[in-house]
Amino acid sequence: SNVAKLTFKTAKEQLLASNPAAKRTLGTSRKAQAKFVSPMIGAQDKQENSEPEITDERLKHIDPKMIELIESEIIDKGTPISWEDIAGLQLAKSVIQEAVVWPLLRPDIFTGLRRPPKGILLFGPPGTGKTLIGRCVAAQCQATFFSISASSLTSKWIGDGEKMVRALFAVARCHQPAVIFIDEIDSLLTQRSDSEHEATRRIKTEFLVQFDGAATAEEDRLLIVGATNRPQELDEAARRRLVKRLYIPLPDAAARKQIISNLLKNENNDLTSQHVCEVASLTEGYSGADMKSLCSEAAMGPIRSVPLSQIVSIDPDKVRPVNLQDFVNALQRVRPSVSQDDLGQYVKWNKTYGQGF
Ligand code: ADP
Repeated sequence: SNVAKLTFKTAKEQLLASNPAAKRTLGTSRKAQAKFVSPMIGAQDKQENSEPEITDERLKHIDPKMIELIESEIIDKGTPISWEDIAGLQLAKSVIQEAVVWPLLRPDIFTGLRRPPKGILLFGPPGTGKTLIGRCVAAQCQATFFSISASSLTSKWIGDGEKMVRALFAVARCHQPAVIFIDEIDSLLTQRSDSEHEATRRIKTEFLVQFDGAATAEEDRLLIVGATNRPQELDEAARRRLVKRLYIPLPDAAARKQIISNLLKNENNDLTSQHVCEVASLTEGYSGADMKSLCSEAAMGPIRSVPLSQIVSIDPDKVRPVNLQDFVNALQRVRPSVSQDDLGQYVKWNKTYGQGF
């Protein structure tokens, strides 16, 4: 892993400083004809240097178990997302490209007035592609993608949330460029109330400390992407830190059409593009995630038409294609998950605090 590499590098430097002869045994500057020397710190080296293993300076005070947890659970190693995988949202995509992707790729020319924001906020109804955008930004910048939900800091990591926040930023610094995606960021950046738990309060304080630390360390290539369905809960201090605030709305008909086409690409189906347009026009108010549920539901149609007695033995080629009627049936079962009321609130907040489009 990368941390292992970093560990090795620092250990190597330390070793060289204390024992220049170690250079030979560590396999650096070998000639092609030279005898093979394992690049690993072997048993022999360990005996010569009975120093304990030295980790990256930045991870010195971090619990190794937490580093491991972050590596396994918070670093997202899913398939890279490209801009084309995200339907619609043209304006948001172009703003993000200019404000954060290019600067992460070219920190040398995005300096001074062009210095990028350290934090951006994506707000809007659930299931509209905020996480997809975060993953896409990371993929476009060849950055490591850290994804954590703010509520897990207060629930899943009970008692350790504060340490977790510190560890997260430390590990991210070792994996630059890095994108830290924080879902439900409203729960970390709301007004601190008197009634809240002491542990929660400490997590929030630590987060602000880390955020501000990242914001002032100019050379660090870290981007914090906060996502929320409840932007109204953010206070003034939160808005000040998340400089770019982008509304990620429900997909329009064209975007819904693209989502359906994408999802059907690898399914046996006989929908014409006219049919797809029809489904797109019948799904006003559906989120991207709702569209996915709808397509999954429709894809069950052909399976449900197989007689029960044949379901275990049927040849996959004999399952009929998904058709328009399957979608019409699915529309009865999968309803939009976002209310008009909520939408109005987002539009209003966007006018006041967002980019306004
Ligand atoms: P959230 O806004 O809640 O972070 P996600 O990005 O996690 O939503 O989206 C959930 C799922 O819904 C995605 O994995 C994808 O399948 C689908 N989806 C949502 N928005 C879009 C979109 N704009 N384009 C394509 N798929 C989308």
